[in-house]
Amino acid sequence: MSGIASFFRPFSRRSLAAELRRVDAGHGIGQVPARLSPDTIAPLVCGYCSTGCALLAHIRNGHAVNLSPAPHYPVNHGTACPKGWQALAVLDSADRATVPLVQDRRGHRRRVSWGEAIEIFVGRMRRIIMEHGPDAVAFLGSGQLPTEELAFFGSLAKFGMGLRHGDGNTRQCMASAVVAYKECFGFDAPPYTYADLEESEVIVLIGANLAIAHPILWRRVLRNQHLRALVVIDPRTTETALAATLHVALRPKSDLVLFYGLAHLLLRQGWYDRAFIAAHTSGFEAFAAHVAEYSPEVVTAATGVELQTLLELARLIGTSRRVSFWWTMGINQSYEGTRAAQAIIALALLTGNIGRPGTGPNSITGQCNAMGSRLFANTTCLLGGRDFRNPAHRLEVAEILGIDPQRIPDTPGLSYAEIVEAIVAGHIRALWVVGTNPLHSWINRSDLEGLFDRLEFLVVQDMYHSTETAQRADLLLPAAAWGEKWGSFINSERRLGVIRPVRRPPGEALPDFSIFQHIAEAWGAGPMFRSWRNPQDAFTRLRELSRGQPCDFSGVRDYEDIERAGGIQWPWPADKAGSEPEPHRRLFSDGKFFHPDGKARFVFEAAREMPEAADEAYPLLLLTGRGTAAQWHTQTRTSKAPVLRRLYPADAYVEIHPDDAQRYGITSGCEVFVESRRGKARVRASVTPTVRPGQVFMPMHYVETNRLTHAAFDPYSRQPSYKACAVRVRPAPSWEEE
Ligand code: SF4
Repeated sequence: MSGIASFFRPFSRRSLAAELRRVDAGHGIGQVPARLSPDTIAPLVCGYCSTGCALLAHIRNGHAVNLSPAPHYPVNHGTACPKGWQALAVLDSADRATVPLVQDRRGHRRRVSWGEAIEIFVGRMRRIIMEHGPDAVAFLGSGQLPTEELAFFGSLAKFGMGLRHGDGNTRQCMASAVVAYKECFGFDAPPYTYADLEESEVIVLIGANLAIAHPILWRRVLRNQHLRALVVIDPRTTETALAATLHVALRPKSDLVLFYGLAHLLLRQGWYDRAFIAAHTSGFEAFAAHVAEYSPEVVTAATGVELQTLLELARLIGTSRRVSFWWTMGINQSYEGTRAAQAIIALALLTGNIGRPGTGPNSITGQCNAMGSRLFANTTCLLGGRDFRNPAHRLEVAEILGIDPQRIPDTPGLSYAEIVEAIVAGHIRALWVVGTNPLHSWINRSDLEGLFDRLEFLVVQDMYHSTETAQRADLLLPAAAWGEKWGSFINSERRLGVIRPVRRPPGEALPDFSIFQHIAEAWGAGPMFRSWRNPQDAFTRLRELSRGQPCDFSGVRDYEDIERAGGIQWPWPADKAGSEPEPHRRLFSDGKFFHPDGKARFVFEAAREMPEAADEAYPLLLLTGRGTAAQWHTQTRTSKAPVLRRLYPADAYVEIHPDDAQRYGITSGCEVFVESRRGKARVRASVTPTVRPGQVFMPMHYVETNRLTHAAFDPYSRQPSYKACAVRVRPAPSWEEE
């Protein structure tokens, strides 16, 4: 108990009130910063997706009244998608969380002061830890938070409160890419710059519907003057596939076999870069032996791709000088997502398509700060992309932060899925959820609903009180949103961008950063974070934490450096401080990777069976993905913008092929039940040939979808396999309830 008790100090309401005043004075909570004049234009990067577009907030009387895309930013060049244009519209919603709320077991919510809320948080968490140990409490964060807040959250939870188990919603979208890069390159290092989209001769998009998921990147594809072929590998005829010069409509989850088959053909035809492989890679011979089994006959049988298509794709990759491979969730959200991503990396290594303009095995991230989360959330990796298991890394972090190395755990703790399992087992009794909505977004969410009732204490820190998860919270802490606080994001191409407050948070909502400060003080961990007075101070810590790492941005002195340069991609080490970065930089142009031998590795494994294939009882495969460019994830925000609501169907729907529709007596617009072994969803049917016979598609944005998905996981990344499970569809009689 002494180790735990040492984290605590007596809590006094008076000291909290003083702390609130100190923090308020320190960085202008609730105020548009002084350096914005009452009527001006303020730049900030967008708070939705990982593209990282820059927007201009138009300020009138000290309050943002409109947004427009920044004309000269090297990411978006004066354009934005509907979500970016409408980003302010979601901030004035009536269901913003404006005061702390406590909820009793009968569901009655009661308003409390911040002082009471923090006291309840500390008191109840402390009691659970005293009774059951620190492993009885876990936390879940979000790639929507700025890096400073993520680092504070993870550091407070692990070093300050002594917790071990925490994860983030980035586990749901990017974990497989992270593991793939780490194992192949020695660090989680997406190598590209967006300019590569404009410089490729052949672009291969894999499981990526860029036209709606990353519309600004799609625009950059359309600007490419060198493009000879646009290949889309996707089971569906997506908006992006419609524009492809070659659409490879493979069977769902046969991608790994396809990539090994392509490698087989490249080797057989001699279309590989012997010099690059010899100088810059390891494991080639074993990889070549592995793919020898993946003959065209094997591959066409497993994937359903015609021989001519397979040969044409191999020829395009093997005979073009600048080939880039881009993937998103169609690869990552799979039971073998890590190996599939590594097979894509292998194709790039095999052909020397890396480190040059227009090349690369390029994973595009989802959330606006997934990349910041990957490096600094202090969950999967120790701060700055370090390893919890490495004693030298723990010492480095302890020294930079001025803390006792004993406070740093020597393992990364449980993953999201393992945290859920630990709740089932009764080992985890309290959960602190910040900026995410697991009761909508987690795979097979029906299971989770009952599960959250088992928790002794659920704390939700969110900008809305209405999310499925917030409604279950014993304690709701109202958080400021994007546009109401300072911080920095890192986008998919490793570019740091700045967000800033351009309006006041509503009511008593506070930036997450401030909430963490209050909790740290009340917990007795305040001294550990005294130098984290505000996000800019925290950024200084992040710079130091990055120093000497592959993601080194110690040469970025402050937020003004970032804004002046139009964003700065890492690496940007200290010796570059003050100089002007080129607008676009890619990694590995020197052929040196981050493994000790400087070489990239071929990593591979035999393809496995799909965890839940279609069968007689459930004869259709359910695919999931994004619906429109106007929807974001669980629609927590986008559903609040009237303009966006007009751009997508209000109700959940399922896309079904005309042949299947006819077989089951379904017409477009009619209500149907989609049923899996986990649950049933009543949705509208959309009869369309964009899905193949035997497959149906539902957008991820509707709460119905994850009633159906099957909780299978990649064994290396522990990422959920959202993309394919077995279902059946039938017309919904009006009398039958869901
Ligand atoms: S593409 Fe992404 S970053 Fe750009 S405006 Fe749209 S949501 Fe924002």
